[in-house]
Amino acid sequence: MTASGSPAAAMSVFRYDALPGRIIFGNGSSRAELRAELERLGARRVLVIATGQEAGRAGELVADLDDLVAGTFTEVRPHVPIDVAGRGCEAARRHGADALLSVGGGSTTGTAKAIALETGLPIVAIPTTYAGSEVTPVWGRTEGARKTTGRDLVVLPRVVIYDPELTVSLPAAVTGPSAMNAIAHCVEAFYAPGANPITSLLAAEGIRALASGVRLAVREPDNLEGREQTLYGAWLAGSAFASAGSGLHHKICHALGGAYDLPHAETHTIVLPHVVAFNAPAIPAELARIGAALGVEDAARGLQELGSELGAPAALRDVGLGPERLDDAVAVVAEKDFSDNPRPVSEGALRGLLDAAVNGRAAIAGSLR
Ligand code: NAD
Repeated sequence: MTASGSPAAAMSVFRYDALPGRIIFGNGSSRAELRAELERLGARRVLVIATGQEAGRAGELVADLDDLVAGTFTEVRPHVPIDVAGRGCEAARRHGADALLSVGGGSTTGTAKAIALETGLPIVAIPTTYAGSEVTPVWGRTEGARKTTGRDLVVLPRVVIYDPELTVSLPAAVTGPSAMNAIAHCVEAFYAPGANPITSLLAAEGIRALASGVRLAVREPDNLEGREQTLYGAWLAGSAFASAGSGLHHKICHALGGAYDLPHAETHTIVLPHVVAFNAPAIPAELARIGAALGVEDAARGLQELGSELGAPAALRDVGLGPERLDDAVAVVAEKDFSDNPRPVSEGALRGLLDAAVNGRAAIAGSLR
């Protein structure tokens, strides 16, 4: 019995590795705080990393930091091709960089991480999408059609500056799927191998903030309240994912994205409701918490309806994976190890799940065998 007289709830043994990192959050913070944060790190020769498209925005942010900026690297590509990572390391050496400043989405953060992995340079990250990579120690690199990922604390940004104002320019077509990608981090944090009560807490609040924020952000892109809530949720999502690890959903998206060069966030948006529908019978309590955070009875259907409300694609066949490649896709995904999923995953189960995602069928909890 507890001191209040109620029986204590049974709690099984769990491990929680708290990750280091300093977070600055708020509108205008990127402009107001960047110099102080770079100086705090002792940075004198910063290499700025941004896509060609975002280079102007990054340039504006560092316009008054001439004394600290050594150069800019703009060869960012999705999924960090190995040759891009090599050229990034070369740029860091050429400029004598002592720190990396990434300004952009997950692809940009990923490029900074690939450079940090080889050089050990500290990263200051200013994310401009909702991918969440900036608070994880996970890096990824692609060679040929094969993406390799790993964990290393050296790639975890030392400082993250979350400035919702920087996400106002994200078009609705990127905003919706990017937030759904973050919701996927939260959903899997409930049952991934490292899940624990703390990651579940982060994930539940993350889903709540993302679901309410992204509706507003898509409806009224300039409304800072929507952008704040969505970016706050993205931070929580990345944090939950960083500790809990990835499960069935992330493994499927990773395999399909690498094999068929599918758009990352859209693939997550489409696949997630079907994974939830499949896992539903094995995780009733977690599903109830996910549904409550979304404000719906049925989490699988709720996630699919949210995706369509945001105008996101609903079928993999509409983003580059047609039914004619279903057999091949099943074989590609089946190479992954799903032994830690809460429900056993047979090849037949994968086929049913992928068939539903490829054709955009309704996600119905428990309907997938
Ligand atoms: P992205 O970084 O490729 O950005 C998508 C598009 O949005 C790009 O064209 C970019 O230039 C544009 N963009 C970015 N910010 C913008 C802004 N504020 N306004 C207008 N346009 C903007 O896509 P993403 O979804 O952010 O990241 C996907 C990548 O991140 C994938 O490679 C994925 O594997 C990786 N990722 C890694 C982790 C991790 O923990 N390592 C977590 C999540 C995602």
